[in-house]
Amino acid sequence: MLLKYFAPDLYVKSIYDIDLQALKKQGVTTIITDLDNTLVEADSPDYTPKLIKWLDDLQELGFKVIIVSNNNKTRVAEFAEPLTVPYIHRAKKPTKAAFKKALQILKSSASETVVIGDQLLTDVFGGNRMGLYTILVIPISEKEGLGTKINRSIERIILPWMKKRGLITWED
Ligand SMILES: [Mg+2]
Repeated sequence: MLLKYFAPDLYVKSIYDIDLQALKKQGVTTIITDLDNTLVEADSPDYTPKLIKWLDDLQELGFKVIIVSNNNKTRVAEFAEPLTVPYIHRAKKPTKAAFKKALQILKSSASETVVIGDQLLTDVFGGNRMGLYTILVIPISEKEGLGTKINRSIERIILPWMKKRGLITWED
């Protein structure tokens, strides 16, 4: 069924609601994360102390992390470089190329990798096409570009449909 490609394996409020210990126990070693509205607001240049703590936690638990974003180089580099997190910009999610490149950079396999993102049509769809474990978060901010707004109107139809049919596990 086609729609299963849009169903995340896990749906949580925010990155801070992800049980990192549980991921580790599942054998996850690698996290591919979206940037805008997943880690911080889409138009916010700044990382928060809470985010830094989260990244520290990831490191302490031994996870490898990479930011894979469809946004431009300036935006992604300015955010990721001070944090010394590797990144791929203009990723063209949901196409597979950037995900493959991310796995290559971190020397990880698909079976040990999760994708975290706030969009069904880019992050979740792309991750599922690659056979990665996908985690959907609620977008941090409602401020977003036109392309994203169009994607959102599609999400508003697909998400309730999938919830109703038990395709999505919501963890509160
Ligand atoms: Mg996003």
